[in-house]
Formats: sequence, C-alpha cells, structure tokens
Amino acid sequence: MLGSTPDLSSDIHTDILVMGAGLSGLTLAKALEYSGLSVMLCEQSPDPATHITSTSFIDQRAIALSLESQQALEHLGAWAMMAHESTPIQNVHVSSQGQWGVCRVSAQQEGLESLGVVIPITRLASGLRASLHNTLALKMYFDTRLVSFQQETHAVQALLAQPGKTLKVQAKLLIAADGAHSPVRAQLGIPTSHHNYQQIAWVMQAQIKRPHHQMAYERFTPEGPLAILPRSPDTCVSITWVRKDHHPPFNTLSDPARCALLQEAFGYRLGKFLSTHDPQGYPLVLQQAERLFQDRVLLLGNAAHHLHPVAGQGFNLTLRDVRVLAQLLKATPDLTLKSLQTLFNAYTLTQAEDQRLTVQITHQLTQVFQSKHFPTRCLRACALNLLERSPVALTKLNNQLMGLTAPGIHRYGHTHG
Ligand SMILES: Cc1cc2nc3c(=O)[nH]c(=O)nc-3n(C[C@H](O)[C@H](O)[C@H](O)COP(=O)(O)OP(=O)(O)OC[C@H]3O[C@@H](n4cnc5c(N)ncnc54)[C@H](O)[C@@H]3O)c2cc1C
Repeated sequence: MLGSTPDLSSDIHTDILVMGAGLSGLTLAKALEYSGLSVMLCEQSPDPATHITSTSFIDQRAIALSLESQQALEHLGAWAMMAHESTPIQNVHVSSQGQWGVCRVSAQQEGLESLGVVIPITRLASGLRASLHNTLALKMYFDTRLVSFQQETHAVQALLAQPGKTLKVQAKLLIAADGAHSPVRAQLGIPTSHHNYQQIAWVMQAQIKRPHHQMAYERFTPEGPLAILPRSPDTCVSITWVRKDHHPPFNTLSDPARCALLQEAFGYRLGKFLSTHDPQGYPLVLQQAERLFQDRVLLLGNAAHHLHPVAGQGFNLTLRDVRVLAQLLKATPDLTLKSLQTLFNAYTLTQAEDQRLTVQITHQLTQVFQSKHFPTRCLRACALNLLERSPVALTKLNNQLMGLTAPGIHRYGHTHG
C-alpha cells in the first residue's frame, strides 16, 4: 500500500504524470504498476486514510460494475482488496411506472455466475489505493494540485502545488484523470459537447421491509429513472433517483416524506421503504471532449466522457479504456512524441466505437424513457415486452452494457492475442 506523501523539495522526472486519483487515475496507476514505466499519481485532496474529520464529505454512491469490470479488477490484482464489500447482482428487473412493459434479465439464463456487482465507490477507491504498492517506479502524492503545465518537444513541464510549497515535474506523458471539470482539458482549450439534462441524481441508502434477493431494479418514472441496487444485508439497498432539477431538493424533505415518494414511484415489490439515509445530489450532464489527446497529453475517465448514470456505464467504460491504454503503453516504453502520436491514434481507433455506442445507448435511454409523448410511451412498453420475449436481442443489449462487445474482449475476460 502506498504510504505517506514523500518529500517534494526537489524537481522530479517521471515517465507518466497522472493528475487525479479518482477511480480513473487509480485504475490506470494500478494497470501500469509493473509496466517498467515510472508513474507519479497526484491528487489535490488529502489522503482519505489519514484525513477523516467530522465534516468530511463521504460519497454515498454505490456503483454497479459489470462482470467484465469485476474480472478486469481481478486481473489487475485489486479485486481481493474490495470483494468483501461487494454484493452480486443475480437478476435485473426493468419497468416503467404506470405502464405494462416489464423486462427481466437473469444471470442463470445468461449462463453467468452473476450479472455484475454493486460496490460503494469509497470502498472501490480505498481497495484500489490499498492494492497499489509503493515502488521506486510508482509514487502517489496527496495534497498535490496541478497549477499549470507546458508542452515541449521532449517532455511536459508541470508546476504542482502542495501546502506551502511548489515543485516542477518533468514527464514524458501527462494523463488528465482530473474529472468532468478537467483543468488540464481547460488549459489545452479542448472543446466539449455538452448536454444539460436539467436533472439531479439523488443518491442514498435505504432500509426495506422485504429482502431483495440480489435483484437490481431500474424503474422509469415520469421524474426520471430510479435505480435500486442490492446491498448487504439483504434488507439494505442503494438508491439513485434521477429527478428534475426544479423539484425541492430531496435532502430537504423529511425521511417519511422521502419514503412515501419512493413508495409511490416504486410500489411494494420490496415491501415498505422503512428509512433513507443522507441523500446527496449530482447534477447530470452528458459531456464529451472533442479530442482525447494533444501532443503529450491524454484525457481519461470523466475528463474525456461524462455520462448520465442511467445505465451505470461511466466507470465500466473507463475500465475498458484503461485496459487498452495500458496494453499500448507497455508496448511503447520510449514515449517519444512520434510514438505517442501513434499510440494515441491506435487507442482512439480501438476505443472509439465502444465509447460512441456506450454514450449513444446511455443518452437514448434517457430520451426514450422520459418522453411523455403517447406513441413513444406505447413504443417503449412494446420494446420492454419485446426484449423480454427475444433472448437474442436482450443478450445483445446486455452484452454491450456489460462490456462484452468491446474489441478483443470475450465473456470471462479472455482477450485476443
Ligand atoms: C450518481 C452517479 C452514479 C454512477 N453510477 C455508476 C455506475 O453504477 N457504474 C459505473 O460504471 N459508473 C457510474 N458512475 C460514473 C462513475 O462514478 C465515474 O465514471 C467515475 O467516478 C469517474 O471518475 P474519474 O476518476 O474519471 O473522475 P473524478 O471522480 O471526478 O476524479 C477526478 C479527481 O481528480 C482530482 N483533481 C481535479 N483537478 C485536479 C488538479 N488540478 N490537481 C490534482 N487533482 C485534481 C479530483 O480531486 C478528483 O479526485 C456514476 C456517476 C454518478 C454521478
């Protein structure tokens, strides 16, 4: 496990500087751990392992990982650090409030051990951090913010700030894993396409009366999609409810009022909602960078594509991006400007279709299921029923959402060549 922040009094040379130790930066660092390349991973926030105060923000999100993503984390050697915090998904139930269409997917029918897992984002991140080994080649720095950088022919020169001091870092490659508001992307002037859904995703834990039996529910309500994910023990669930942003904030309602609204939207499949805990709101946008790289800089994760959470695809997609990127980097140890351009082109070519399809499916789901237009409502009810009755179509959609159609990837995580 990476220890405390090293002394940064002198300038540093590294092969790869990764800015941002969210899920994307951590995963890339893990994937490059024994690559032979030196990696410096920097995060502006303090180390969460040593810096927890009574006012610290604790992210309540629990995210759904596809089976493919779970296997990718296993392959990286990180899964063992977090497996005990995860809950398997055996079945998925999709419905639309006030309509007759229902679609069910089951792991057993698909011939899979599970459809995926649910894991709190904080556990996923702490598991990744705990799995990283502090070596000469890999160093992680908290409380370290990127101030500015300049691209030169042979390197990127970056200025970083720690409390009370600054340091200069020279890197052959800068990876911007610095989130949806990416300061690196902004400094490069890379434009983004932007769609504001004018919705907030309200995330919370809830206690329910009946056990969930490892069933995940996606219910489309006039407000927006409501996802109920199984947690442990089996009367505990994680809820993400997307609601229009002009409604009173969910966290200002009393607990009984929140439970009543959930009950009305979801019904009694899980019995009564008994209580909810600490709702947190995330404003929703679809944002995509128009270019993924420039000279010696590459955008990764939310900095590259920031998706609506309706299909739980953001980090699943990033894991597939990281897999391809790490393979290419391991095969390009010299990191000259020319070889980086070849690498970036190969990366974009390999991942473009997966990224395009994932963004498209996610966005279209939000549009189809929020339409009040009568023919569209009839069509979506028919679509749910047709999917339920057409195992081939269902498996195809399911495979894209589970990441099984990504180039070179097959079920159970085997790759070509
Ligand atoms: C409500 C919701 C539900 C979701 N559910 C799912 C799901 O079920 N499945 C799924 O696959 N995905 C899901 N996602 C998406 C998933 O959460 C994201 O894909 C993932 O967290 C992306 O993380 P990131 O590391 O790219 O960005 P971030 O988490 O934003 O991390 C960026 C990091 O960069 C740091 N940083 C920024 N600027 C600087 C700087 N100048 N210097 C140093 N550090 C800096 C920040 O402090 C931060 O730690 C969901 C998202 C939301 C909002």
